[in-house]
Amino acid sequence: MQACTLTTSSPDPVPVPAESTYDSDPDLAGAAEFAANEGVEPSEGQGSAYETDSGESTGADLALAQEPLAAPARSRKGTQHRKVEGDLILPPEALAEERYGEVSEAVRRTFGFESLRPLQDKAIRAALEGQDALVVLPTGAGKSLCFQAPAMVQPGLVVVLSPLIALMKDQVDGLLANGVPAAMLNSTQTTEQRRDVYRALEEGKLDLLYIAPERLAMEGFIDKLDAFGMVSMAVDEAHCISHWGHDFRPEYRQVGELRAKRPNLPIQAFTATATPEVQRDICKQLGLRDPKILVGDFDRPNLTYRVKPRRTLADQAMEVINRHEGEAGIIYCLSRKAVEKLSDDLHKRGVRCEAYHAGMTPRRRNEVQDQFQSEQIDVVVATVAFGMGIDRTDVRYVIHGTLPKGIEQYSQETGRAGRDGLPAECVLFHSGSDYHNWKHLMERSAQEAVERGMATAQEELDSSLARLGHTYGFATGARCRHQFLLEYFGQVPGEELVKNGCGACDVCLGELEKVDDGQVLAQKILSCVVRCEQRYGAGHITDVLRGADTQRMRDCGHDKLPTHGLLKEHSVGAVRGWIEQLTGHALLAVTGGKYPTLYLTRTGLEVLKGERSVELFLSQTVKKESRKRRKAAVADALDAGLEPDEGLFEDLREFRRDLARERGVPPYLIFNDRTLALMAATKPQDTEALLQLKGVGEKKAADLGPLFLERIAAYGQ
Ligand SMILES: [Zn+2]
Repeated sequence: MQACTLTTSSPDPVPVPAESTYDSDPDLAGAAEFAANEGVEPSEGQGSAYETDSGESTGADLALAQEPLAAPARSRKGTQHRKVEGDLILPPEALAEERYGEVSEAVRRTFGFESLRPLQDKAIRAALEGQDALVVLPTGAGKSLCFQAPAMVQPGLVVVLSPLIALMKDQVDGLLANGVPAAMLNSTQTTEQRRDVYRALEEGKLDLLYIAPERLAMEGFIDKLDAFGMVSMAVDEAHCISHWGHDFRPEYRQVGELRAKRPNLPIQAFTATATPEVQRDICKQLGLRDPKILVGDFDRPNLTYRVKPRRTLADQAMEVINRHEGEAGIIYCLSRKAVEKLSDDLHKRGVRCEAYHAGMTPRRRNEVQDQFQSEQIDVVVATVAFGMGIDRTDVRYVIHGTLPKGIEQYSQETGRAGRDGLPAECVLFHSGSDYHNWKHLMERSAQEAVERGMATAQEELDSSLARLGHTYGFATGARCRHQFLLEYFGQVPGEELVKNGCGACDVCLGELEKVDDGQVLAQKILSCVVRCEQRYGAGHITDVLRGADTQRMRDCGHDKLPTHGLLKEHSVGAVRGWIEQLTGHALLAVTGGKYPTLYLTRTGLEVLKGERSVELFLSQTVKKESRKRRKAAVADALDAGLEPDEGLFEDLREFRRDLARERGVPPYLIFNDRTLALMAATKPQDTEALLQLKGVGEKKAADLGPLFLERIAAYGQ
């Protein structure tokens, strides 16, 4: 994108885009809100969600940890699963092989999964062989199983580093529900609770221990872990260690010291998003020894991506919500104000929704999370602070009300849709102002960092701006969304995908309608930019092309330009959309600074001269699905040749909701939709039949089986 601007001085501020019914003015978002949007969680007002091991809890904890230890009795797994004595005579590879055989059995028995995915398989083998590894698996691809499963069959303790307490708690709850002995240590626990955990550790009763990086840095803590029989370390959310990543956390740098302290400890790093550059940095920072790099399939074929220009967000959101009546969805907005406004609007239209942002009290935020988890509300309108601890697998749609600042965030946030593998939809609404708002925020934040004396501020700004540029390209371009995302994460799209398209994005579904005379339209726009001496922003160019009759036009003499009124039959939104597409194709570029202006690139000039062709698209509204509205899980079972009884399915969902409320756990921890659909299709009559179903392990069959069997038997009687 190198082309010279004739001049960069800018007499006019870029007008607010016409679709400014939506409030995305960065100044309306306070600094804390910006912080909220800058990270997964803001560092302010979110205290309880963070591991903040300092002060008294640290002291109390260490006192606990320093109590005399009983010799760890680590024979639990030995007696339960295998003979410990055998370990001593088997070479490591043979031992790993033997344990590997136990893994699939344990996974089937515990979680009810019949098979492991290929990459999970490789990651588990690496863990059992004590090899260092970096595993990049997108959200929903079963990343945590890669360290949980080996922990279940191996003697000793697997320590899991995790940055967020909500996340830890969810995983530990999930493991306990399936009968896997796991615990966490963090500052939100009472002294009593932590004492129990230490006791379990001393007695060698735990397979997994979750802690935050700060705790690892506590003096003497690693020695304690050794004494408790630590055999390996799993570093979750490992991208937090790289400042090239999108969520750098300084406290993660301390984890890098671990290698020096324990040169032989196997370390496996896990992340859901890492570009090839970030992958290299993670390995370097963690000091991984000859690591196995396992990058998963980033394609989420069950997600359908759509990108649309934003007009009136509430109306547009309603269209999506109506397609998914009664199903779960998350809507992300940039500022608190936008969150509250949209949540209000939707509420008035009868949507069961709540707002969620960092300005709310921790208690209120927890309430909203719980309401969402327990299916009392369908929709949460939130800033990006929402979702880290949410493990609801049946989220059927994720809406972005603003352009995200990076593909990493976008991929992570949309990754919360369809985690049960069933069809889900991701819709991004954006406007040209989003890019500039982000840019402005990033520059301001970098400026503040410079003032605080941060040495890497400029470097981080460059890296942020580059990521923003990619996101802008994703939104404004008209390339297959699946392909774009795959390539971004360094995966080569399969031949099939390149040739036939994904069938699950607005581009491949043909929802973007090609404009008949795209080439001519493009030339008109490019020519107008040149006529305006490449000194104006998109808003002004749109006004000129649409023939605005204003004092401003007359003042700068643009009402006399031959391009004035050339596109007067088209709407503001349409013209703005084309300008964005031309920018997405890098035919136009935008200057930096306070008043961004448009200028032609070399390729833009080629199009203007007719030496290169270009296509432009109109964007359409998505047609209502003709298929009768039915739950995705049921649809999926039907596709697999099973015929679930829809009445029974709804009955089981209701039963699950009541049971979940009674037990104070999220419904998905009971059984997920897919399992319920299978029950509704096969109507099992005994435990044996129940155990055949995906998602039913031995613990759940024993615990919940009789209740569900009874419910199934009672149905229709
Ligand atoms: Zn596609």
